[in-house]
This record gives sequence, structure tokens and C-alpha cells, in this order.
Amino acid sequence: MTTDTELADELVDAVRTFVTKEVLPVASEFEHADAYPEALVEQMKTMGLFGVTIPAEYGGLGLDIVTYARIVEEIAFGWMSLTGILNTHFITATLIANHGTEEQKKRWLSRMTTGELRGCLSLSEPDAGSDTRSLRFKASPDGDEYILDGTKMWVTNGERAGLVTLAARTPEGITCFMVEKEPGPIFGGISVSRTIPKLGYKGLETVEMSYSGHRVPADAVLGGPDTLGRGLPLILGALELGRINIAARACGVARAAFEAAISYSQQREAFGVPIAKHQAIQFKLADMATKLEAARLLTQSAARKKEAGERCDVEAGMAKLFASETAFECAIEAMRVHGGYGYTTELPVERYYRDAPLMLIGEGTNEIQRLVIARQIGL
Ligand SMILES: Cc1cc2nc3c(=O)[nH]c(=O)nc-3n(C[C@H](O)[C@H](O)[C@H](O)COP(=O)(O)OP(=O)(O)OC[C@H]3O[C@@H](n4cnc5c(N)ncnc54)[C@H](O)[C@@H]3O)c2cc1C
Repeated sequence: MTTDTELADELVDAVRTFVTKEVLPVASEFEHADAYPEALVEQMKTMGLFGVTIPAEYGGLGLDIVTYARIVEEIAFGWMSLTGILNTHFITATLIANHGTEEQKKRWLSRMTTGELRGCLSLSEPDAGSDTRSLRFKASPDGDEYILDGTKMWVTNGERAGLVTLAARTPEGITCFMVEKEPGPIFGGISVSRTIPKLGYKGLETVEMSYSGHRVPADAVLGGPDTLGRGLPLILGALELGRINIAARACGVARAAFEAAISYSQQREAFGVPIAKHQAIQFKLADMATKLEAARLLTQSAARKKEAGERCDVEAGMAKLFASETAFECAIEAMRVHGGYGYTTELPVERYYRDAPLMLIGEGTNEIQRLVIARQIGL
């Protein structure tokens, strides 16, 4: 896809302004209340952010993945949770755009572009996270329908989404379904059986969802009958985009922590000088700046490769691994720089410290990323 760079730059600038004016003033308040930011999401819809990478023929902006990553970084700088609202939406949209039938693209993509229809991802199960081959969720064929039975865990956006990317076992193997539902706690045989309480990443729901005899038409199989039993590689391919999202949001959180640390270190005085004059503090800030720059370059490099249509599990994995570890380090270092004030809930540094660890785990833990990288280097 060729990107209109002027449009991309304008949109990134508009997102930065949106974050400064609308997100930063309210992020901590919403986060502490664990309240869904309805008004912010509506503004994101108006700005076209739910259609950033969706092709223009379906009403999207048709921008590239590098631009998407830049936007995700800007939003995460303000509040990481908002990037989680976009992540599974774009994993779903990308799967449909790349592997859906023409009919499926027409049915879903234009409604996804506006954010009227939002996507979520149901891969993980209570007993199967990293080990995706042990998924147990069943889709049993019955005439021209499938009957869905099982439990899915950790479904971010599960309640508010209207389209679920669902990995389920059919007689052929693991198949990728696109399950339409009404937003809300119950629809047909689908119910939100639990809302999972979290350390951070608040304001958006992560839920357990149970399916009991829920029927879907056979054309809910992504890509039609040819892809029966081939769902796992399709979903894992789309998770590369998810890892780029995590890497980009990690850059945003790392930058927020870094900027907070710089600013505080120039104001706070100890032993007669701003603490920024102490070399121990300067070393922390220098390391943060260096790692943030490296994390961003890795993220952009993975995004460029994904955009070129190549598999990039190693590059996306390296970016996700490095950027998330950087975000975690920057969050704790920023807290140290703030001294006791960093430990209060009055400053956003504590939020970065609670949000950052999710990125070590989500979209494949960093241990799993290291396994993928080790395999690639021949181990
Ligand atoms: C807030 C949140 C939101 C999420 N949102 C979604 C979502 O929207 N959709 C979705 O499908 N999933 C989602 N997930 C699930 C997430 O992807 C999984 O938690 C993650 O893949 C790890 O799986 P697990 O939790 O089952 O851990 P496990 O797989 O049980 O791993 C436990 C530990 O063992 C390690 N481990 C496992 N296997 C190996 C190995 N072979 N070698 C070395 N170490 C290993 C892991 O690295 C980890 O440290 C979310 C998770 C969280 C916390």
C-alpha cells in the first residue's frame, strides 16, 4: 500500500493534539475509576482512527502500518488503554482484508472503518495461552451451520465488540471464525461469564466469554471452506500486527515516563542543585533516551516489513520484546527519579508502572518471543 505521507503526517499531528488536549487531562481520572472513556472513543471514531489501515475501497484511510505504529505511540503516550481499544479491532480487520472472501470484506470492513462495528480477538483459553496447539474450544458442523461450545479467556473488548475473531477446533483442525454478535453481556449462546480485574490497563474490559450451543452460519469461517483447519497460521500472522501495536504502545509509555522524569529532574532540587545535575540521575535519563530511540527504530523496521507483505514474526517479536522491556525499565526508573512522589497516585508515573508489565505478557510473552528469535538464529 502506498501511503499519502502528507495525510499520514497530518493525522499523526492531529492525534498528538487530541492526546494533549483531550486525553492527558482526564486519563488518570478515568483510569483510577476504571471507567470506559466513551467520549474519547467517539472522538477517535470521528477522527477516522478505526479505519486507519483499512483499504480506501471499504471507506478506510488506507494508511500504512508505519503510520499506524506512530499513531499508537502518540495515543499510548496519553493513555495506554486507548491503544488496546484499537489493537484487536485492527487484528480482526487485517484478517478480513487479507484472508476474507469478497463478500466478507463487503459485509464487515466498511462498518469497522467507522468504529460502528468493533473487533475483538478470542484466541486464549483458561488452559491455553502460549501453547496455542492445546486449544480446546469446539465448533461442530451441523448442516450449513456450526455449533460453538467452550470458554475463551482474556477477551479484551469482548463485551463492546460486535465481531469476534475466534479460534475453534473443527474436524479439520483449528479454524478461524468471525462471529457476529450484539455488543453487551449476552447474545444468543454467548455470555460474558466474568470481567477480569486487572492491575492496570483499566477503563476497557478484558473478559472471559462462554459459548453454549451458539450457532453460526458456515460462512462465518474466515475465507470460506478452503481455510478450514488452517486458522492458526492466519491468526498468528495477524498477531504480528498485534506485536507491532504492543511495541508502539511500549514506545509511548516509555516516552511518557522519560519525559516525566526529565521534567521532574529539572525542577526537583537536592543538595543545592536540580537533581538532573547529579550524574547518577543523568545516567538513568541517558539510558532511557537511548533505549527509547532503539525501541522506536525496531518498531518502525518491523512495521515496514509487515507493510511490504512479508512474514515478520522475528522482527515484530524483537520489537515487542525490546520495546516492552524498555517501557518497564523506563517506568521503574522514572519512579525512582521522582522519589517518594513517584509512588503516589497523584502523578501519572504510578500508572506507567502498572501499565508497562502487560506488554511483557500480551501478544505472546517475552519468553515466547525469545524462543521464536532463538529458533530463527538456528538454536
Ligand atoms: C490484560 C490482558 C489482555 C489480554 N487480551 C487478550 C485478547 O484480547 N485476546 C486473547 O486471545 N488473549 C489475550 N490475552 C492473553 C495473553 O495473550 C496471554 O496471557 C499470553 O499469551 C500468555 O498466556 P498465559 O497467560 O496462558 O500464560 P502461559 O502460557 O500459561 O505462560 C505462563 C508462563 O510460562 C511461560 N512459558 C510458557 N511456555 C513456555 C515455553 N515453551 N518456554 C518458556 N516459557 C514458557 C510464559 O512465558 C509465562 O511466563 C490477554 C492477557 C492479558 C493479561
